[in-house]
Amino acid sequence: MVILSLKLSLLMLVMAFCRAVPTESPPEEKIAKAQEYLSSFYSDVGVRAPGSVSRSTLDSFEESLKKMQEFFGIKVTGQLDSATLDIMSQRRCGVSDVARYGYFDGQPKWDKKDITYRVTDYTAHMTQEEVDGALAKALKLYSDVTPLQFRQIRSGTADIMVLFQAKSHGDFFPFDGPNGTLAHAFSPGEAHGGDTHFDADETWTLTSAGANLFLVAAHEFGHALGLAHSQDQSALMFPTYQYVNTEGYTLPDDDRQGIQLLYGIKGTSPEPPVNPNPNPEPSPSPTPEAAPDRCSPDLVLDAATTIHNTLYFFKDNYYWRRRSFWDGIRMRKIQTLWPGINKIDAVYEHGNGRQSTIIVFEGKMYWKIRRHTVQPGYPKPLRNLGLPSSIGKVDAAVHLSFSSKTLFFVNDRYWSYNERRNRMDRGYPKYIYREYGVSKVDAAFEYRGHLYLSSGSTQTEFDYKRGRLIRSFFNHQWMNCS
Ligand SMILES: [Zn+2]
Ligand SMILES: [Zn+2]
Repeated sequence: MVILSLKLSLLMLVMAFCRAVPTESPPEEKIAKAQEYLSSFYSDVGVRAPGSVSRSTLDSFEESLKKMQEFFGIKVTGQLDSATLDIMSQRRCGVSDVARYGYFDGQPKWDKKDITYRVTDYTAHMTQEEVDGALAKALKLYSDVTPLQFRQIRSGTADIMVLFQAKSHGDFFPFDGPNGTLAHAFSPGEAHGGDTHFDADETWTLTSAGANLFLVAAHEFGHALGLAHSQDQSALMFPTYQYVNTEGYTLPDDDRQGIQLLYGIKGTSPEPPVNPNPNPEPSPSPTPEAAPDRCSPDLVLDAATTIHNTLYFFKDNYYWRRRSFWDGIRMRKIQTLWPGINKIDAVYEHGNGRQSTIIVFEGKMYWKIRRHTVQPGYPKPLRNLGLPSSIGKVDAAVHLSFSSKTLFFVNDRYWSYNERRNRMDRGYPKYIYREYGVSKVDAAFEYRGHLYLSSGSTQTEFDYKRGRLIRSFFNHQWMNCS
């Protein structure tokens, strides 16, 4: 039923779009193909955050197109231009590029070190030994840099079930014949979780001809272990297929850091380090202090931010991390995340994915953190950002990815900082109340395209691209309290 109605609305959308386009537009077939591409790889229908507004279908076509253009780092036009059509024609992985923005998906991973895999259907293009060899070599990329170990089994149910099949193969994601989608894999979990499927209509090889099984398998196993697509073109987890020399191939930096964030570094403790610092701080000071109650309706936050699409809320010496609704809330001391920092006033992240920069504020100083490491030369005084030196602390900060601007909230006013030009915008400070209807902000963050301003025990959600207020609710409503 769901699939049928989805297909129907898709058809309606294509028809509506065709009518709206003037004579110069690409042929209908191209539009239909683009629509199919976007709905396969850029649609987050059904995983939208509660409270968000519904959009017209046309609106969502253009928005998905922009999302796709932004992902691939080409000009964001919202139009089916040649650069866009070119990328859409490339061979690629069947997994969505926006899965990681899903409200419920969080960051799934295996809870054990020993992972089994089993191939149930082989390809006609290679011998079984060649396939087994290519898959083992692909998995070795991951076992070389993490504590994970892989074992092939010949019968029964393995964690990662591998098959080569064409067209429909029992999972609602049929393959498409030669080229187009080459393979797909499910993220870790029960049942289908971790399963890795290769399109049997491709010509699988160990060379630069056809589709190189080692390279495609290495990418798909990344998904099977919990990695999402990367925007880094040199990353293995970039969604389109590109042949590279496989001789002596090792995991590119971006992918290695991603997998080590999930499972830790080979030869260290199996618990993934939130802070992959080889010299962790000595155990926290013995001063007893009560941890804040996350479920209190009176909960007032010090700061909040998203880091790699995961929510972090800060209070006193602690933070709560919320990867997804299902994953639950984890509380830790701030110093386990960023050694040397005990309490913060404000924090924000800017930049893409694993290359992002985190700025942390306490009192009159701020720190720049990359890859969990405080950058040399920090902390620096607030005036380096262009704030008046009379300011004693920043209440809240948030980076708006849509405009590449960062807002700093201080008492009843706020400033806007241009991250591209590294300077404050003219015309600020402005009164917070005039723009947002609250007089003071304690914590601010962006999540799934919406802006959240927390003031006292409540917060307000804004669709800032459209300048609309969505709703207000208590801070503790993020905390999975019954
Ligand atoms: Zn993929
Ligand atoms: Zn499949």
